[in-house]
Amino acid sequence: MVRGATGTSVKANTYHLWTIGCQMNEADAWRAAALLEAAGYRPVEHARDAQFLLLSTCVVRRQAEEKILSRLRYVEELKRAEPSRTVALMGCFVGFRPGAREELAAAYPFVDLFLPPSDLAPLAAHLATRAGTEAPRADGAADDLPPPLPGSLAGGRTVRAHLPVVLGCSHACAYCIIPYRRGPERSRPADEVLAEARALAGRGVRELVLLGQIVDRYGLDLGPGAMLLPELLRKVADIPGIRRVRFLTSHPNWITDDLLATVADTPGLMPYFEIPVQAGSDAVLAAMRRGYTAARYEELVARIRDRIPGAGISTDLIVGFPGETEARFDESLALMRRVDPDMIRVAKYSPRPQTLSARTMPDDVPPAEKERRRVAVESQLRAMLTAKHAPRLGRTEEILVERIEPTGRRHGRTPDSIPVFVDGSDARPGDVIRVKTAWTGPFSFIADPA
Ligand code: SAH
Repeated sequence: MVRGATGTSVKANTYHLWTIGCQMNEADAWRAAALLEAAGYRPVEHARDAQFLLLSTCVVRRQAEEKILSRLRYVEELKRAEPSRTVALMGCFVGFRPGAREELAAAYPFVDLFLPPSDLAPLAAHLATRAGTEAPRADGAADDLPPPLPGSLAGGRTVRAHLPVVLGCSHACAYCIIPYRRGPERSRPADEVLAEARALAGRGVRELVLLGQIVDRYGLDLGPGAMLLPELLRKVADIPGIRRVRFLTSHPNWITDDLLATVADTPGLMPYFEIPVQAGSDAVLAAMRRGYTAARYEELVARIRDRIPGAGISTDLIVGFPGETEARFDESLALMRRVDPDMIRVAKYSPRPQTLSARTMPDDVPPAEKERRRVAVESQLRAMLTAKHAPRLGRTEEILVERIEPTGRRHGRTPDSIPVFVDGSDARPGDVIRVKTAWTGPFSFIADPA
């Protein structure tokens, strides 16, 4: 134990992970944590105790960036109190352009390591130097890296893990910073993905969530004859030990009939789609450069529900995009009433550096009006889901138990991804059990063993 000037105590070979943002970010962070654990570090609950501070960052909205800035002020204090600490900053705040790293190093001199999104090479090199060995390949090659599963992080067994299959994005929606920070779209080779999926299954993972900004485009950049998403999903679902497979995020233009047929016909592939719509007005959709109309989105959802009865559809909606008048916003509310999604994640528009909308479109919806619209979407959603879930009271649902809460309650999800809390069950994490719902709410169920 090292005592710093201000009495901070640092425990040798410990790390602390702070992470915000999307599932992709969490997957990157877990991978980094797994690398640290393979090098002999163990996690601690409080940053002030840790020798290695790992910060995984998101900048998709300004609010996220503000959280990072305030966290960095705290980390700077910790580093000043105890300079033997190592500070590593990873993710979209860092970005993939090398020049950006130099600027950050000048602005945040207390940071020792900068890791671009999904790139652990600087961390692997750092750990190798420290150990006096050669750096392992950190480009995601599954045979050289531990499975991205820092078991100790979850405080027990990890039943569900995220597996990035498409890195970056090349679509360039007008509002979105991701292509500028995560770089162009690239699919990971199928053999690498499958090896990692098998390694995760071997470590007790029972549900895998395949990730990509437009996950439906998996393999299209890998050349003629490459494995595409439907086949990849079938192969992952076939891995012994894997009970459930999901995939996200979908873009309306890239969901194929082959994908729908695969979801319909593959046991273990969950009937659940995350398809951001972002707006209900065609004028706003065009300004966003999304590449579809509201009618086309509606048709797609109808096609999915026709092919896969009971499929869950989750969507994302941005309120207050430049040029979104009140009437255009009402079209978003109306579209949501027609589509009747199973979840909506609403975000207030936030202009992001470099994006087309930030450069060329005035942020013309006042903050209070954006907030009003956010609340309007959420209260409509709450009412719709309350009514939609009510008929499921007393029904039997099949859930995969993900964890046991301190109260003994089991937590899991239905195939269409509704969280369920089960009282009086002795099931273990990883079990698939049948339960009977005793209460249905808009965002979760309470159930008893069936
Ligand atoms: N690739 C996905 C998700 C991108 S980021 C897609 O096809 O959209 C996740 C969500 O953040 C988006 O769906 C969007 O709703 C929201 N988002 C992205 N940029 C934003 C911005 N500038 N302001 C507000 N919300 C934003």
